[in-house]
Amino acid sequence: MEKKTIRCQDCYNKFIFTVKQQERYAENGWTDPIRCPSCRARKKEIWATTTDYQQLMEEITLRKCSPACRSFFRKIGR
Ligand SMILES: [Zn+2]
Repeated sequence: MEKKTIRCQDCYNKFIFTVKQQERYAENGWTDPIRCPSCRARKKEIWATTTDYQQLMEEITLRKCSPACRSFFRKIGR
């Protein structure tokens, strides 16, 4: 395996996808990242502060995940 250089889909900066990361992604069956670490962190923050997201998190804690929130998570790739 070799490290890959990927261009971030959001800021178009290149970032390194290390061999260690590739191994971790492969183990988990994840596809290669499309965003650089800082854009991923920013996205995470946005999700955490979005009202919809918070509402969905509440739903999950309170009761079984509804079809709406399942499709939400499919959409954001979790
Ligand atoms: Zn980026």
